[in-house]
Amino acid sequence: MLRFDVMTLFPEMVAAPLSESIIGRAQKAEKLCVVCHNIRDYSKDRHRRVDDTPYGGGMGMLMMPDPVYDCFEAIPKVGEHRRVIYLSPKGALLTQKKAKELSELDQVILLCGHYEGIDQRVLDEIVEEEISIGDYVLTGGELAAAVLIDAVGRLVDGVLPDPICHEEESLSSGLLEYPQYTRPVEWHGVRVPEVLQNGNHQKIREWRQQKAIELTVARRPDLLGDKGDR
Ligand code: SAM
Repeated sequence: MLRFDVMTLFPEMVAAPLSESIIGRAQKAEKLCVVCHNIRDYSKDRHRRVDDTPYGGGMGMLMMPDPVYDCFEAIPKVGEHRRVIYLSPKGALLTQKKAKELSELDQVILLCGHYEGIDQRVLDEIVEEEISIGDYVLTGGELAAAVLIDAVGRLVDGVLPDPICHEEESLSSGLLEYPQYTRPVEWHGVRVPEVLQNGNHQKIREWRQQKAIELTVARRPDLLGDKGDR
């Protein structure tokens, strides 16, 4: 079972979206588990403060190193294969390939920053990798952590009913996924393509491959030649 430990000042922002639907069910079925740790619980300040002004001046507040470090130290280490990740706009972009790699670990420890971020010294001491979920700046790492857990969690064995689900979909194969249709066969005057209705599996495979290539050329030509590297 893959265990995620999330260090955050706002545990509910991480836990709430992951308690629903597929990831919520996967947690109940013990295919994976998400444990949130409130960094504020490790503040030694009588007002439970966790942030202070940055040396050198500048806007906003910075999370202090001690509560983050003490929170990290309190997390039980599980299994042999662990990774400590800081969600950060300065990190490498999260990709399907990275999600697959993380899904094979025993434990993923995620650190969420807030305000202007976290004192660099504690990052240098505990963090092994920085991951960004996109080239934009969020108010905190919580939603980024939830996105990462969703993307990684659905690749864990037994979370989706059939591994073919993710082998065929966008990015896993290095291509965007082909268009899909369900009933009714005609909707707003548009019919489901004939080839998908005739039960010829070879022809369906060829049509889907062709559509996947056309879509990738049109929308994400940068993916071509990646062979699923992303
Ligand atoms: N001052 C920081 C900078 O310019 O790099 C940004 C701090 S941001 C307002 C607060 C926190 O949100 C960060 O510490 C990080 O944990 C999280 N965060 C912001 N954007 C993110 C992104 N694109 N991906 C992952 N985490 C992000």
